[in-house]
Amino acid sequence: MNRLVPIPPGEARGVAVEAGDIVRVVNTEGHQVVDTWAFCTADPLEFLSMEHSRSATYRILFKPGDTLVSTRFRPMLTILADTSPGIHDTLHAACSAESNRFFGMASIRPNCEDNLKEVMAERRVRLGPIPCPWNLFEHAIVTPDGSLIDEPASAAVGDYVELRAETALVLVCSACPSTVGDISLGTPRGAAIELISQG
Ligand SMILES: [Zn+2]
Repeated sequence: MNRLVPIPPGEARGVAVEAGDIVRVVNTEGHQVVDTWAFCTADPLEFLSMEHSRSATYRILFKPGDTLVSTRFRPMLTILADTSPGIHDTLHAACSAESNRFFGMASIRPNCEDNLKEVMAERRVRLGPIPCPWNLFEHAIVTPDGSLIDEPASAAVGDYVELRAETALVLVCSACPSTVGDISLGTPRGAAIELISQG
């Protein structure tokens, strides 16, 4: 079933998957942060939750073998493999028009929050409050004094995170256009979602 869904720089794409399907989020050009969300098909107001997943795994950085959960602790995504250095931020909010204003950026668009809203509107899926994304490849680390530090994503060309859907869901990935914190090492690039197999 392999199907590649390219994500142009600064844009987002969504794919609907069933329980058991396997997908990869691919860093096709290296050093790119990919904001990632998942919404239950049955009820999109239930979604992949970073805070619930941190509690479920007792980790702030998830690793292969971990199962991430929804706002109702429903298993949603299991990490099957990760060829990147393995740091995927779970703490930062998505970039948005408001965050770009907050940080004094020259332009407020594109941004990941509006990208998510566009993808969901195209799919006619009702979207509640914007969840915290799983910021794949984002190299944000917590120091011993509690500070949060951004470093450019260290993922190489072709690195991927392989995920198994544990329930029917819509996966949305945004090739983050933000340059705050230089998280994607200079000019933001593209990425891709690769559908590997059906369960
Ligand atoms: Zn972003």
